[in-house]
Amino acid sequence: MKTMWSPWRSKYIQGFANAQDDSCFLCTASSTTAQKEHLVVREFEHSFVILNRFPYNSGHTMVVPKRHVPDLTELDTSELHELFEVVQSTQSVLQNVYSPHGCNIGINSGRAAGAGVPGHLHVHIVPRWDGDTNFMSTLADITIASEAIEETYQKVSDGFEQQYG
Ligand SMILES: [Zn+2]
Repeated sequence: MKTMWSPWRSKYIQGFANAQDDSCFLCTASSTTAQKEHLVVREFEHSFVILNRFPYNSGHTMVVPKRHVPDLTELDTSELHELFEVVQSTQSVLQNVYSPHGCNIGINSGRAAGAGVPGHLHVHIVPRWDGDTNFMSTLADITIASEAIEETYQKVSDGFEQQYG
């Protein structure tokens, strides 16, 4: 895909190169105290909410179990339940903050399925608007990130704060 505004593009490619390393950026984000720097919006007992640094759309968020497991089959019941409760909460926050027309919620399980970080399960939540793919993405094969990631962070953090205290 071509991008019209892509200061993050080189980092994206760098990210793929780094994916070969032993270090897992989701584990790093999970254990950091510098949550904002790592784009961690909210932390729960078994999982956390993190912004996607390379968003497909404004508000592109991921819900991640703290444990480094590759797919759903590795989660125990309490981890699984909490993960999807947090997916529900995150969707609710994104709806309040962005008023999207729809939402893609999905898991790419394994590299063959398109997972950028195949070792560490994460659930993508991508707000969608009518027409956001009609011309720019589908016909012109272009994506637009219309909002700076710092702005997204502030909005989503505030959204959680307002809704869940
Ligand atoms: Zn990990």
